[in-house]
Amino acid sequence: MRAFFIGRFQPYHLGHHEVIKNILNEVDELIIGIGSAQESHSLENPFTAGERVWMISKALDELKIEKKIYIIPLEDIKRNSLWVAHVKEMVPPFDVVYSNNPLVKRLFKEAGVEVRGTHLYNRVEYQGTEIRKKMINGENWKKYVPKAVVEVIETIDGINRIKEIISKDI
Ligand code: NAP
Repeated sequence: MRAFFIGRFQPYHLGHHEVIKNILNEVDELIIGIGSAQESHSLENPFTAGERVWMISKALDELKIEKKIYIIPLEDIKRNSLWVAHVKEMVPPFDVVYSNNPLVKRLFKEAGVEVRGTHLYNRVEYQGTEIRKKMINGENWKKYVPKAVVEVIETIDGINRIKEIISKDI
């Protein structure tokens, strides 16, 4: 069975990492869709699609998973009613979708695809918005993401990027 899981992963954090480990216990193959792929260099979406591919694949390498995992960036489209067809065009066929996003769940349900909920691990601490705030405020953000993600963000000078975006906004 092949599953599809989508997120923005800004950044990919330990909550996502746990969800993916759990999904992989239930399925044979997994497609990870990187949503809003066209977005980058903003407060909500600081990292490019390519950087997010890098973060996720490096973090998953450390788990030494033998199952097939596809990581595929997906741009948003303006029409929600056509979005499932857009996703299906861009990724290999899948049997089940894992999501907690009400819009994502509804759109796939209407398209007749089985949808399963996910439980984000320690949701209080592992939240993209909170982690981005910590990056801006000089607080410890590193403990909320896999080590591989710290390395990618440091390599791309990601923290200074976010701070400079802020200063431009002000
Ligand atoms: P999102 O808008 O990135 O996230 C919404 C919220 O849900 C965030 O707070 C996120 O936390 C949280 N979240 C993510 N995964 C979760 C999980 N497994 N359990 C509990 N909470 C979770 O939405 P998304 O669901 O992660 O990604 C959906 C993507 O599909 C977006 O890029 C969206 O633009 C795209 N989409 C596009 C269309 C269209 O183009 N018409 C239609 C539908 C959806 P974190 O920030 O911590 O991840």
